[in-house]
Amino acid sequence: ATDLATLDPEIAEAIGLEADRQEQTLEMIASENFAPVAVLQAQGSVLTNKYAEGYPGRRYYGGCEHVDVVEQLAIDRAKALFGAEHANVQPHSGAQANAAALSTLLQPGDTFMGLSLDHGGHLTHGMKLNFSGKLYNPVPYGVDPQTHLLDMDEVARIARESRPKAIVAGWSAFPRQLDFARFRQIADEVGATLMVDMAHFAGLVAAGLHPSPVPYADVVTTTTHKTLGGPRGGIILCREELARKINSAVFPGQQGGPLEHVIAGKAVALKLAGTEQFVDRARRTLDGAQALAERLLADDVAATGVSLVSGGTDVHLVLVDLRDSELDGRVGEDRLHEVGITINRNTVPFDPRPPMVSSGLRIGTPALATRGFDRPAFEEVADVIAQTLLHDDADTLGEQRRRTRALADRFPLYPTLTDGLS
Ligand code: PLP
Repeated sequence: ATDLATLDPEIAEAIGLEADRQEQTLEMIASENFAPVAVLQAQGSVLTNKYAEGYPGRRYYGGCEHVDVVEQLAIDRAKALFGAEHANVQPHSGAQANAAALSTLLQPGDTFMGLSLDHGGHLTHGMKLNFSGKLYNPVPYGVDPQTHLLDMDEVARIARESRPKAIVAGWSAFPRQLDFARFRQIADEVGATLMVDMAHFAGLVAAGLHPSPVPYADVVTTTTHKTLGGPRGGIILCREELARKINSAVFPGQQGGPLEHVIAGKAVALKLAGTEQFVDRARRTLDGAQALAERLLADDVAATGVSLVSGGTDVHLVLVDLRDSELDGRVGEDRLHEVGITINRNTVPFDPRPPMVSSGLRIGTPALATRGFDRPAFEEVADVIAQTLLHDDADTLGEQRRRTRALADRFPLYPTLTDGLS
């Protein structure tokens, strides 16, 4: 026997159960999505067998004529979709894209600025246990205590004081758009390069529903599995003059052989991201976040001390602020899990609770938009979330579990994806 179920029933069973979990619950982790069947097929293909160190046309291995086609298509599509001069599609992940990008812009010991982790930045933007905090000298900037927005005058002040060699703009948990033009101006003023990590909002940029950082930044990094909806992985975009350095920072700098099966999946996702269906899905993603914000800002929720970081959202997620609530992040996450909604607890800026507990919930809409959720469906799930945060009696929670399951049944996951997109 050669099939998975016969050869390795334990793994097959875990995969089956995970498929059921994805089908039967509502996925609202802001960094997750559902890859189309076409992407899963590319990832499960024989390309996984091939070594291809180097780049298309310049490989260190024979037999690369077909993977060259795959990788070149991915490169060309990434450049066209984002209007970039150069694309490297080999980073195995967002973190590795950032490692390669930072190693291009900085020498060990150099100073760079990034949004602090507890204000929504990513580990790779200077967290002290991460390579970015160990190898370089990170100087964090944060959000304003009142507005929870970036005070760009404050960013400029820190830049003048710390003279960074690079400034990183981008976030993992921040519900607003960034002012890329102002970041560029600050970087120019202090002689720094600008790197934008658009991992979270790349799909919105591709759809034309979020400003693009590409015209402003020296280097743009992204993941391909969040709003972009492709396979897990990373991409780096840059201007032509940095192309050779970026390529050599990825290979041989950070990685050996590229994952051509994943690169094939990236190529498929980038093709789909150029379609009208993708734009419609991104529009529903944003609509859904608005519906969530409206419901969670309503009087009955506000009366319990629950609010939203920055008072709302203009992206694909909301950050629920529980600092004035009896609920904490852990209880909120667990209670939503109990009714079949998966989210993650998250620190909020100026969080008094420890990170393992936290005072925030990060709730995102990309995965449900991929399932086909429209505005009324998002209003329904927003109300389920509100009721779940407001009540903890068994009857109410039982009712929310039924509503969740009804929504999951109404928007079947993989059958709707067989045409490549929901
Ligand atoms: N950059 C940002 C802004 C992210 O949010 C993430 C993932 O959470 C990453 C980079 C890292 O991506 P990966 O998990 O693929 O390493």
